[in-house]
Amino acid sequence: MKKGLLIILSGPSGVGKGTVRQEILKDPSIRLYYSVSLTTRKMRPGEMEGREYYFVTPEQFEKNLKEGNLLEWNKYVGNCYGTPRDKVEAKRMEGYNVLLEIDVNGAQQVLSKVKDPGVVSIFLVPPSFDELERRIRGRSTESEDAVQARLEKARLELNLANTYQYTIVNDTVASAAEQIKKILLERSASLEEMR
Ligand code: 5GP
Repeated sequence: MKKGLLIILSGPSGVGKGTVRQEILKDPSIRLYYSVSLTTRKMRPGEMEGREYYFVTPEQFEKNLKEGNLLEWNKYVGNCYGTPRDKVEAKRMEGYNVLLEIDVNGAQQVLSKVKDPGVVSIFLVPPSFDELERRIRGRSTESEDAVQARLEKARLELNLANTYQYTIVNDTVASAAEQIKKILLERSASLEEMR
């Protein structure tokens, strides 16, 4: 069985990582497995437990952290987010390409822990900052302070896009998803050649 890739997908809040992921998931040839994170933030309308996130209390999060169950974690605009460790390696061994949608800090943690040629890092950028602000405000169920904090964080994160192997502009979902799929197919093939 050929081992799958570990894909790190970052990009500022509101850039559309989730929508692009849904588009890639529609293509079974990519064999994508989305790693669902733990978060302490409140569920947004339309979100479902176990699909977008496992929604946990700060105490539950702390417990998972203490027990070493998280591959990486970070605090983001007042809430904790973390990747459960157990599924990542197991799914890769089953041949799935495992996708982590995590922020830049979490990405650094993964890159320092997992050192193999199967790690692919991709940063998704918006067509413009104005467009990003429009998207964040459009979907926000949060206070103006939280929106401002997300915009501020987005500016900082966009400056780190060049630390990733690939930068993709999310102009249209279809085109961003196509570009990512192409990268994944190429990287899978080159991983195969190395074996
Ligand atoms: P949101 O609240 O908009 O769903 O996510 C806020 C930010 O947290 C996004 O940049 C998202 O990629 C990031 N995030 C989601 N899950 C994780 C995780 O498990 N670890 C880390 N480090 N960041 C995460």
